[in-house]
Amino acid sequence: MNGIFDFPQNLIDLANKAENDANAEFKKIDTILESCTQRVLHSFVKNRVSEACLVGSTGYGYGDMGRDVIDKVFADAFECEDALVRHNFVSGTHSLSTALFGVLRPGDIMVSVTGEPYDTLGEVIGIRGNQGDGSLKDFGVKYDQIELLSDGSLDIEAIRKAALSAKMIYVQRSRGYSLRKSISCEEIGEVVKTVKAVNPDVIVMVDNCYGEFVEEHEPTFYGADLMAGSLIKNAGGGIARTGGYIAGRKDLVELCSYRLTCIGMGKEVGCTLGENREMLLGFFYAPQTVANAVKSAVFASKLFTLMGYECIPDSNEIRSDIITAIKLGNAELLCAFCKGIQFGSPVDSFVTPEPWDMPGYDSKVIMAAGAFTGGASIELSADAPLREPFAVWMQGGLTYHSAKLGIMNAANEVLKLTNGK
Ligand SMILES: *Cc1c(COP(=O)(O)O)cnc(C)c1O
Repeated sequence: MNGIFDFPQNLIDLANKAENDANAEFKKIDTILESCTQRVLHSFVKNRVSEACLVGSTGYGYGDMGRDVIDKVFADAFECEDALVRHNFVSGTHSLSTALFGVLRPGDIMVSVTGEPYDTLGEVIGIRGNQGDGSLKDFGVKYDQIELLSDGSLDIEAIRKAALSAKMIYVQRSRGYSLRKSISCEEIGEVVKTVKAVNPDVIVMVDNCYGEFVEEHEPTFYGADLMAGSLIKNAGGGIARTGGYIAGRKDLVELCSYRLTCIGMGKEVGCTLGENREMLLGFFYAPQTVANAVKSAVFASKLFTLMGYECIPDSNEIRSDIITAIKLGNAELLCAFCKGIQFGSPVDSFVTPEPWDMPGYDSKVIMAAGAFTGGASIELSADAPLREPFAVWMQGGLTYHSAKLGIMNAANEVLKLTNGK
């Protein structure tokens, strides 16, 4: 293959049309970007972020200025009381798990109101995995779930009933790797209102992975008590090299900090090594990076719709996450798409992705990721299980114009297989 960006004229024409069609949505994305950037910059200024905050600590990390300031910056930008932002969170799952174990107690009932939670939470809750591993279930925390209605909306009546006896109502904002809609922050606000009306003590917790800065405000603004996410997705802006966060009500964040470190020590300990600068810089960039990822998602959706494929979400749905699913219809096209994305990546572009038996999946999975940070899905990436409905889930894009090239590359590979068919 010569000249990866020598696209055939018919693809260039389609891409121009897709970009034109996307203009109105791009404008809306820029409005959200402006508002989120203002809030983030404001929180840096208000909390007097200084050069000294960029330097890390070692050992116990007592009095680490940077660590304390990062917590405050996140809390203000997310319009909530407190946050726990640490490089020691190894992933989004770890942040979520820490939050669940932090606030739930034996006998409590946790109710997921968006159907089955993201795959990796299954073992944490105890609906999968081995008895005795120490899941919430092993500790006597009961679990129940309410499915989304057939149109993808929340079953408010069932949620109201469940709230009478629940300790926690759990909402997953992003579609994850399903074909359902993402849940908007306003819908989360409606859940909050509904459940607090019948049980003011119930905790509304949100899995906010892939959601940060996609809308003007976060779930905490709409009354969610607690939320958690990953720093190698939206909130790290493509700069943070690892980490996660929990944010929300002060008393609950405190409990979570006891689970992350020790009871009694909580947030007061934990050295930051050299991570403060990347965490602050990444959070500063995050609204911009997320806007680029959402624009990339909209472009992909417009382009592949023009090519005749069903894309989810469709263009008039309110986006609350950065994911786009494209139903390509067969395994060969999924592999071609991933090959194209990989080939248009800044790192490991020369690698050809192969389907493999990923643990926890009942079919082979193919993935494309050429990222500066291992596994960072705020960078342009794609995943596809080779099974019905033969859809690829695509997300990320550190810069819109580079992601556009990656997506055009994927489209080119798909067109090569389907031209004349
Ligand atoms: C990615 C993700 C998680 C888990 O995050 P990891 O960092 O992969 O552990 C949880 N929930 C949702 C919706 C996600 O997208």
